[in-house]
Order: sequence, then C-alpha cells, then structure tokens
Amino acid sequence: MPALLVILDGLGGRPTDFGGATCLERASHPNLDELAAQGALGLMDPIAPGVRPGSDTAHLSIFGYDPFKVYTGRGAFEVLGIGMDVRGGDICFRANFATVEERDGKLIVVDRRAGRLEEGKLLEEAVNSVSLRDFGVEFFFRASTEHRGALVLRGEDLSAAVSDTDPHEVGVPVAEAKPLEETEAARRTAQILNAFTRRAHEALREHPVNKKRLAEGKLPGNALLLRGAAVMPHLVPVTETYGIRAACVAGGALYKGVARLAGMEVLSVPGATGDLKTDLRAKARAALEALRSFDLVFVHIKGTDNAGHDGDAEAKKAFIERADREFFGTLLLELPKGLHLCVSGDHTTPPATREHTADPVPALFFGPAVRPDRVRTFSERAAGEGGLGRFSGRLLPQLLGYCDLGGKFGA
Ligand code: ZN
Ligand code: ZN
Repeated sequence: MPALLVILDGLGGRPTDFGGATCLERASHPNLDELAAQGALGLMDPIAPGVRPGSDTAHLSIFGYDPFKVYTGRGAFEVLGIGMDVRGGDICFRANFATVEERDGKLIVVDRRAGRLEEGKLLEEAVNSVSLRDFGVEFFFRASTEHRGALVLRGEDLSAAVSDTDPHEVGVPVAEAKPLEETEAARRTAQILNAFTRRAHEALREHPVNKKRLAEGKLPGNALLLRGAAVMPHLVPVTETYGIRAACVAGGALYKGVARLAGMEVLSVPGATGDLKTDLRAKARAALEALRSFDLVFVHIKGTDNAGHDGDAEAKKAFIERADREFFGTLLLELPKGLHLCVSGDHTTPPATREHTADPVPALFFGPAVRPDRVRTFSERAAGEGGLGRFSGRLLPQLLGYCDLGGKFGA
C-alpha cells in the first residue's frame, strides 16, 4: 500500500500567465496527462477559499494539520527554513549580528547590521561556545545570509512571551528582554536572554574576525540582537496518527523542516537543490527507492514557485515540462504495484503577480482505489471539471484514506 505525495511548489497559475492560458495549460506534460486520464482530479484551496497561503501554512494544511491552530508565526518556521533541527516547544528567535560600543557598562548599538558583515559563519562557533548551562537550557545559533541568523532555546519552563533585545534603532542600549506575561517561564526566559546578550558580546568582542574587520576600518559583529520570539508547535506526527513509516525527499530547508516536524524521515538526495537546477531524476529515483521501505513518501519540488516569483512564465512552463519528463517520466517507468499517488501544488504563484495568490490549485489522485473521472489532462481548467470537486487542504489524509489508513470517526 505505498503512497506518494508530490507537491510542485506554487504550481497553480492564472490565465494571465500566457494570454488566456496558465503555464500548466501551455506546457506539454504527457506523463501527468497519462496519470490524470487514469485517476481523478479536483481543485484544492490549500487552506480555505480566499486565504492566501505561505508555503509553511499550506504544507501544514496539506499534511492534515489546522494551520489556524498550530501555526505560531513566521519566526519559528523561518528557523526551519535555514535548516536548524528544531523541536516542538523550542523558542525561536531571528537574530542579527550588530556592532555595539561599551559605555558606562551599557552596550550601545552603533549599527544593527554590523555593516552587513559577510563573516557570520566564521562567528557562529564563538556564539555557540557561550554557555547557558547555569540556567539548565541549551541553545543553538545558526548564521544565515549577511548579518542574519537564528537562535533556538531549548529547555524546561521557557516562554515566547518576551520582548526583543533588538532596540530597532541605533545610539541606544541593547534592549533588555522583558517578560510580556506574568509567568515564571516568561521572567526566566527574559533573564536568560539578557545573560546571553552579555555572554555573546564577551565571546565576540575579541574574535579574530572582528579584530581583522576593525583593522580594515569595518564595523565588528560584536553583539547579537534577538527579535520575534516564537514557540515551535508540537505536531502529532503523521507516523503516529496513521501508524506508518514516512520519508521526505526535498531540496529546500523549510520543507525538510516541516516534514521532520510531521514525523517524516528526511532523506539526503545529492543534486536535490530546491531550485530550478535541481536534479529531478535523482529525486524520482530516491522516491522509488524510499517506497521500498517506507509506507509514505513526500516529495517537494520547488522550481515552479521560484520561476513564479521571478515573474518568468517561460521558465515556469519549461520547469513543468522538465518535471514531467524527468520526474514523472522516471516514476512511470517503475511505478510500484498498488501505489497511490497524489500530485498537486501548495498554492498558486502567477508570474504576473510574482507572489502567492489565493486561487485554488489542481490536485490529482491516482491508484487502484481512486474512482476515475472523465478528465484526461492535468491542468487548472481540467481540475475544475474533475470528479473530486473542490476541497480545502488535507491531501495527505485523503491519500492515506485511499490506502485504508486512519482511524474511523464515530462508531
Ligand atoms: Zn510554496
Ligand atoms: Zn513562494
């Protein structure tokens, strides 16, 4: 009973893509059409009609979670996006390397971005060498692009109800974190952040990278400013809900992160880059291989969304054609017996808007339990006439439903 869920990010389009036709309608995709002819189609609102989804909230909804209940804000999910191994209950922060000057025992912010330094990765280890063990908590810091990074606090009795240490202006002291609610956890978390500010400054002050920057007349990255505290939600893993083994094949860190939170094992696939150049044959082969030992495999393909954000309809059409040839072509050659397959997108990204829009996305189901409909092609227009009608999110529960998995609701 293997099941395969394939999400082409930002797959949906609008008639404005190609003078009356969407990229998917204009592209040639014989393999997807073959699956459509044998399966059934419908239109999916990733979250609900009229809700413009982020990729993070859309994936939660597609996996069967209620994003209005479990989504705790961008802060937490951005941490997943830079590839940090975050767990439910962790407190996540966005971080900036900054330049501070010590005056009368206070750390005065000179530049909130430390001259947009590029050496964040070289300073990462020094930050992570700071100890917060006296508070009984662990933390993890990761530098990302330029002066940016993220910090994750892990331990008992922590709270996201704390104010930023980033004062959001220069010439003033690094802000003291304050509890935003009357709880011991919030008070304690604020105290930990204030200790961290001091200790991180001590660890960075004399760092060779900063000495070199100073010698070159550049601003040192000698402090970290934190903002946007958010708690990572505890998700009931799909592996537990359905009693299955699940794996994820993806290039983008955010998707790997959400999949890991949902209980999936993230497979490493060389060549899966999460952009337009990704090796789609390698991803198909990895999915086929994983289907031998996992009940469910989730594949995420990002290029469609990238082309949409670039405003490049030709590139989006070409990427859909390559995905059909290289991913679905490879898959169809060795389609496992009894496989149930779902192909869809996580939202619409029309090149004309260069952003996600609220339009529904075509969804295709294929497999021995799926009642075929009369639709013969895979497109937005065809999906509107498909036998599955229009529904919101929950692709994964539907796919696993065809595999007779999931408990009964009621007697
Ligand atoms: Zn997306
Ligand atoms: Zn996007």
